[in-house]
Amino acid sequence: MSACVFCEIVAGNAPADRVYEDDEILAFLDIRPITRGHTLVIPKHHAPELDDLDAELGTRLFRVGHRLALAVRRSDLRADGANLAINDGKAAFQTVAHTHLHVVPRRHGDKLRFAGGLILRRSTEPEATAAAIRAGLERLEAER
Ligand code: AMP
Ligand code: ZN
Repeated sequence: MSACVFCEIVAGNAPADRVYEDDEILAFLDIRPITRGHTLVIPKHHAPELDDLDAELGTRLFRVGHRLALAVRRSDLRADGANLAINDGKAAFQTVAHTHLHVVPRRHGDKLRFAGGLILRRSTEPEATAAAIRAGLERLEAER
């Protein structure tokens, strides 16, 4: 049993609502979302901080975050934008020591809802939300 919860998710030993996976990257819903569809993108390899992350893997990590930002716009979540962020290190309030990129869907005029989400961080319909994002990725793929 790994001490790292995200490694446990990668290994399939801890539950997660997965939205994307390839050989090196995994994306799943944040258990305490700020907005609906708040997703975490992680390298499957355990890299606690950016200092430990291979630069090429960092590029792949962002590429998936980029696609998710496009996918939530095309999904039934009907996002108008997204906040992408990495809290790197305890000094930056990183709480899970396995590098992760937050993708937080945003809507025009959602300032109050966003502020409330920062406090409440409540998950609603995670399975349907993950399915909507996967469908958004498929729509994005179909544009190629
Ligand atoms: P950070 O403060 O950037 O380290 O964010 C860690 C994030 O991981 C938080 O938004 C948590 O809600 C999220 N989190 C912690 N444990 C889990 C889990 N088991 N599954 C999904 N998200 C998690
Ligand atoms: Zn880990």
